Amino acid sequence: MHCYLCAQEGIQTPAVAVCLACGMCMCMKHLVRDQLPVEDVINWGFSQKKVRYPETIPRFLCIPCHNALLQKEG
Ligand SMILES: [Zn+2]
Ligand SMILES: [Zn+2]
Repeated sequence: MHCYLCAQEGIQTPAVAVCLACGMCMCMKHLVRDQLPVEDVINWGFSQKKVRYPETIPRFLCIPCHNALLQKEG
C-alpha cells in the first residue's frame, strides 16, 4: 500500500497507517495522530465523580479528515 496523498502528487511513499474515518492509507508526513482521553464516571450513589485516566487512545486520521473534524468541533 502507498500513501494516497503522495500518489496524488506523483510520489510513491509506503503507507504506515490507515485513516480511521475514510480508510485512506497515508505516510508519516500526511497522518495526524490524535490522543483520545479515556474518561469514566464513578457513581457513589449520592454523587458522581468524573475521572480521566493517564493512558490515552491513539487515533490516526488523514489531514483532510482531521480538518473536517476540527471544523465540526470548533
Ligand atoms: Zn504521503
Ligand atoms: Zn481520512
